[in-house]
Amino acid sequence: MLYGGIEAGGTKFICAVADSPTSTPITAKIDTTTPEATLAQVIAFFERFDLAALGVGSFGPIDLQPGSPTYGYITATPKAGWRNTDLIQRLQAIFRVPVGFDTDVNAAALAEIRYGAAQGLTHAVYITVGTGIGGGAVVNGAMLHGLVHPEMGHLPVARHPRDTFAGHCPYHADCLEGMASGPAIAARWGMPASELPADHDAWTFEAYYLAQAICSMIYTLSPQRVIIGGGVMHQPQLFPQIRAMVLERLNGYIQSAAITEQIDSYIVPPGLGDRSGAVGALTLAMLAGQQHNA
Ligand code: ADP
Ligand code: ZN
Repeated sequence: MLYGGIEAGGTKFICAVADSPTSTPITAKIDTTTPEATLAQVIAFFERFDLAALGVGSFGPIDLQPGSPTYGYITATPKAGWRNTDLIQRLQAIFRVPVGFDTDVNAAALAEIRYGAAQGLTHAVYITVGTGIGGGAVVNGAMLHGLVHPEMGHLPVARHPRDTFAGHCPYHADCLEGMASGPAIAARWGMPASELPADHDAWTFEAYYLAQAICSMIYTLSPQRVIIGGGVMHQPQLFPQIRAMVLERLNGYIQSAAITEQIDSYIVPPGLGDRSGAVGALTLAMLAGQQHNA
């Protein structure tokens, strides 16, 4: 039985085929250009396999409402050309297999709780800090949905007293994503985030914003672990800075040893490294297949 997983990102689509979420997959990396060109390549890759189910973890916002005419669409994205793009209905029509669908970060949170850094827990948050910022959550072992899906990347944050950057989010200007995404860092400092030295003020600001948002997540969702991935987190000095600022802001209020005594294992990088998204997409496929057969 083969599963297909798609990590649909704003920069690239990672396609993976494997017989289980944790098997070493056959993969393809496809640049995100126009929807038509990108999806044609995605479809061509999967057509070589006899798939039992597909799973897609996508950048958002997405329509997850069963029965909605635009179920499986990317909806209000600022990404050029991708607004109101059908992903899932067309994959279903072509492959005629069950297709699981969720946000990229919900899928990554699910992968981390099943196979990664949050194994054995029931509540976890996964945050990606890259071209955008997204947050997904597993609550009681299931990915969190509601009205739509969590949008934790757009949490409001208080401005650092020395920060004059206007903010980069087209909807809210100075929300978390607007202040702390990779492009926000580059716009604020006039050079790519990856080229800023490890002791640059940029990382003080970065940790300041991420720590605030993480405190909001701790207060609202009560996660047992917080996992942070994405390109910007390839700066290892960020982890100790974020942990220290979270402790400082909580100020002893949350009485759990996981935070007060074990913060180093509470706020952590992904156990699956850069593979959380792809493993999550394969997990969505496996679950869609199981649900279909039940
Ligand atoms: P995406 O969000 O597009 O899926 P990534 O998670 O790789 O992709 O995030 C890309 C962003 O991460 C870019 O803005 C880039 O500048 C930033 N980035 C990549 N590597 C580093 C690094 N070593 N240090 C800081 N920022 C980085
Ligand atoms: Zn925003």
